[in-house]
Amino acid sequence: MRISRVEFSVAIVGAGPAGSSAALRFKQLGADVVLIDRFVFPREKVCGDGIPEKALRLAYDLGFGTEDFSDAGNPVKKMHIYGPGGQSVVFGEDRADAAAKSFCISRKIFDNILFQKAASLVDRVLIPFNLVNLKRVGDKWNLELKETDGDRTLDVKAHLLIGADGANSVVARKTGLFKERKEPRFLGLRCYFIGGPFEQAVYIFYDRAALPGYCWIFPVSENLANVGIMIFPKDRKGNPQNVRSIFEKIVQQNKEIRRLLKGAKPKGECGIALLPLGASSEKRTDDGLILIGDAAGFVNPMTGGGIYNAMLSGITAAQIGAKALVEKDCSRKRLREYETWWRKNLLPGFRFAQAFQKFLNSNFRSNWLFNRIRRNGILAAFFIAVYGQPLSKFVLLQPHFWIKIITAGLKNSKRK
Ligand SMILES: Cc1cc2nc3c(=O)[nH]c(=O)nc-3n(C[C@H](O)[C@H](O)[C@H](O)COP(=O)(O)OP(=O)(O)OC[C@H]3O[C@@H](n4cnc5c(N)ncnc54)[C@H](O)[C@@H]3O)c2cc1C
Repeated sequence: MRISRVEFSVAIVGAGPAGSSAALRFKQLGADVVLIDRFVFPREKVCGDGIPEKALRLAYDLGFGTEDFSDAGNPVKKMHIYGPGGQSVVFGEDRADAAAKSFCISRKIFDNILFQKAASLVDRVLIPFNLVNLKRVGDKWNLELKETDGDRTLDVKAHLLIGADGANSVVARKTGLFKERKEPRFLGLRCYFIGGPFEQAVYIFYDRAALPGYCWIFPVSENLANVGIMIFPKDRKGNPQNVRSIFEKIVQQNKEIRRLLKGAKPKGECGIALLPLGASSEKRTDDGLILIGDAAGFVNPMTGGGIYNAMLSGITAAQIGAKALVEKDCSRKRLREYETWWRKNLLPGFRFAQAFQKFLNSNFRSNWLFNRIRRNGILAAFFIAVYGQPLSKFVLLQPHFWIKIITAGLKNSKRK
C-alpha cells in the first residue's frame, strides 16, 4: 500500500475516547496528526456504557453540542445503589449530584461520535491498522503498522507518539513503560439484556460475591440494558471463567436484579476485559512519548470508570504536546509537565479511591456504610462525590467542596 506521506508531527495510536479527544485538541491547536486504530469504526468496546456528565462536558468543550448525544442513549435521572445487605440508596434528578446529567450510551455509538469528528479533522486516518512494533530513531518514533485483516504493512514516523491504545497498550509494553507498573486490575464482564421497559436510571449492586467490585444495570434505551460485573481477579491476568460464574450466580440470586431483569433476555455474546486501575506512580512519558487513558492506567479504582480520565488526559496531553512541538523539544524533560499534571490531578484521587475501595472490601464494613448512608444525607452526598470522581487532598481542602456536600446533604435529608 502506498500513502502520500509517512511522516507526521503527532501519531496517535488508538482512536477511543482518549485518542479521539487528543486528536481533536491537537487539531484545534494546529498540529499535524495521524490517527491510527486497529478497528474500523463503529466498533464494539466492552464497557458499562455509563458516560458521566463531566465526560460530556469535555466533549462540549471539544466542539460537540448537546444534540450530538441527546438521542444517542438513555439519560440517567436516578442512581440506585444497593449495599450487600440489600439496603438501597437513591440519588435522583432533583438532588444536587452528578447522576442527573449523565447518560448511558452504547460505546459503539459514543466512541463513533467522537471518532467521526476527529477523523474529519486529522491529516490522516490509518484504519484498520495494528501497531505491531516501534523504534526510536534519532528524535522520531518509527511505527510499524500491519493491516488488521490483511497483509499490508506501513511504516510511519512521528516526532510525538501518543499511546492511546487501551488497557493492553502495545505502546506502553514495547517502550518498557508498562513493565514497571504494578497497578491492580479489575476484571469486567458485560452483557446486554433485551426486555424492559427500563427506567432512565442506573443500578449498582455491592453484592457480597463481587466485593470490592460490583454489579450494574445501566439501561442504554427503554428496552436494552447493559448488565455487568467488575471483580478483583485472583491473578493479574484474570480468569474469565471465574468472573462469568460469579456473574451468573449474582444474576440468579440477587432479588433486586431478578426483579429488574424479569422477562428480559440476554442479547448476543458477553464481553470480558481487564481494567487497569490508576493507582501506580510510575512514569507515563518518555522521549517523544505520552501515554493517555487506559494505556496509562487512568481508571478510577473504586468505580472502574475511565472515560472521563481518558478524555481529560487526551486533551491535556495535546495541550502540552502542541506546546512542545512549537518549541521543537519533545524530550522527556520537556514532557515532564504531563507527569506533574497527572501526579497532581489524578494520582492523589486514585489513591483515595483505592483506600475507599479497600474499606468496602468487607461485608461488615460495606453494610455499616450503606446503613449509615441511608440515614445521613451528608454522608450520602459525600459518597456520591467520591463515586463521581476520585477526590484529591486538594479538593478535600476546598471549602466550596464541603459547602456543596452539606447543601446537597441537607436537601437529601429534607426529602426523606
Ligand atoms: C467491563 C467494563 C466496564 C466499564 N464501564 C465503564 C463505565 O460505565 N464508564 C466509564 O467511564 N468507564 C468504564 N470502563 C472503562 C472504560 O471502558 C475505559 O476507561 C475507556 O474505554 C478508556 O478509553 P481509551 O480511549 O483509553 O481506551 P479504549 O476505549 O480501549 O480505546 C483504545 C483503542 O485503541 C485501539 N488499539 C488497541 N491496540 C491497538 C494497536 N496495537 N494498534 C492500533 N490500535 C489499537 C483499540 O481498537 C481501541 O479503539 C469500563 C471498562 C470495562 C472493561
